[in-house]
Amino acid sequence: MNPGIHRLVDLEQAITQRLSMPVSQRKNITLDVLRIDKIHATISGNKWFKLRYALQEALQSERTIVTFGGAFSNHLLATAFSCARLGLRCVGIIRGEEPLPALSPTLLECNQLGMQLHFISREEYGFKELLYDKFERQFPGSLIVPEGGASSLGVQGAADILSTAVGQFTHICCSVGTGTMIAGLVNSSSEYQFVMGFSALKIPENDNSIEEFINEATSGKTNYRIWYNYHFGGYARKNTQLLQFMNDFHTQTGIPTDFVYTGKLCYGVLDLIEDDQFPTGSQVLIIHSGGLQGNRSLPKDALVF
Ligand SMILES: *Cc1c(COP(=O)(O)O)cnc(C)c1O
Repeated sequence: MNPGIHRLVDLEQAITQRLSMPVSQRKNITLDVLRIDKIHATISGNKWFKLRYALQEALQSERTIVTFGGAFSNHLLATAFSCARLGLRCVGIIRGEEPLPALSPTLLECNQLGMQLHFISREEYGFKELLYDKFERQFPGSLIVPEGGASSLGVQGAADILSTAVGQFTHICCSVGTGTMIAGLVNSSSEYQFVMGFSALKIPENDNSIEEFINEATSGKTNYRIWYNYHFGGYARKNTQLLQFMNDFHTQTGIPTDFVYTGKLCYGVLDLIEDDQFPTGSQVLIIHSGGLQGNRSLPKDALVF
């Protein structure tokens, strides 16, 4: 691995933080949070892990990274920042027409970091996977990185997350967007560990595409399950109950979460503990996957942190 890629972040900061929540004490469960959100202020959380092998490939073959995201994408910002530091060129293909008069703060930052922004309609974005050939012609010498780093290189990188945790765990809990991170965690888990995913998206009941992606990426390991009932209305949806929870959680633990991913994750884990879904004596690890970009879309006084 190119040492520059490692030097982008500080893995020493990825501490395992013990929580003392009344509910976990009452139920005799230990609860730890793996703070990969702390490895870098901008390339926060799982995005560096998912990007590292693609960055390596782009450096080796001197290619331009072309990737995808929305106006508050943690992945785009992590890509823009990493590429700027490594001297790589990158293009962000953005969902939706260019917002006038102003870009979102996330896209503005991406642009300032040197990412070339290319806007496409929401409709076209919906079938972008069919347009990779077109983008390769449009941006010669490009390396296409799927949205959210959802590729086998992304899964491979996410498998390294667990090696930063200190302690023994029976359950590993994480947020699920594309399923890339959980696939990596399942690959690096032991068969005695159960990996629990909390979907940030509202998925139609007959849609098994995330499980299919995970099963394919993990050669059929079965020690995982995804919960689909903690999405709070869908991707990037929220309500006052969720924001209140995030504020309370921060007051109790000092840990900031975001309303797109980790807020819903922590809510879900504590709800399942309360509901006796973990056996007594469980040693639960929550992966704080970072990425607070979504919170930048909230009114200023919505959160206490
Ligand atoms: C992108 C992101 C996820 C989703 O990860 P997937 O690998 O796409 O499932 C989870 N948490 C945070 C904070 C993220 O930024």
